[in-house]
Amino acid sequence: DPRIHGIKTKIRVVPNFPKPGIMFQDITTLLLDPKAFKDTIDLFVERYKGKNISVVADRFSFCPSKIDKGTFKGIEARGFIFGPPIALAIGAKFVPLRKPKKLPGDVIFEEYTLEYGKDRLEMHVGAVELGERALVVDDLIATGGTLCAAMNLLERVGAEVVECACLIELPDLQGRERLNGKPLYVLVEYQ
Ligand code: 5GP
Repeated sequence: DPRIHGIKTKIRVVPNFPKPGIMFQDITTLLLDPKAFKDTIDLFVERYKGKNISVVADRFSFCPSKIDKGTFKGIEARGFIFGPPIALAIGAKFVPLRKPKKLPGDVIFEEYTLEYGKDRLEMHVGAVELGERALVVDDLIATGGTLCAAMNLLERVGAEVVECACLIELPDLQGRERLNGKPLYVLVEYQ
């Protein structure tokens, strides 16, 4: 699809952020370009419209301004950017998956391992019902730990995860292998 090339050129790679050796894929530059941003959403919408998907769950790390001792731990979910427009366009509900202590209601949580230490993803109890067909959206898959935790949360409440969708995949990290055979759809790969 010719739109993919345009999207790829708008993703900025920032070397040594948030710590030495990391090539950070910065999608904020994509958001500055209305055509590339719209093309991104459209590509997902074209794939999922009419597929009887009732939930789009999103977990999004954005604006990593608070870097905690040079690790990824300080990155906090600041915005939910890709999930809501996809959900609206396909007529699905949107469910935010968040870092600990961000959601005010009763939550269920899943722990997952990071490069150093552990993290946790939370979801409101009652947000997703038994038998709902869910799509999990994230900006990027690295090791797959985050998507795996998101899928576990949805499956624990009886949802069927139809697919995971990401803008960017870092295939070298083999995150796909942690998804227990679940299909993963990505627009852009970085070696
Ligand atoms: P994983 O759990 O697959 O190892 O890491 C994926 C999570 O880390 C995603 O939620 C993603 O937002 C964040 N992440 C890791 N590396 C990058 C990066 O280079 N760019 C962006 N935008 N997010 C990243």
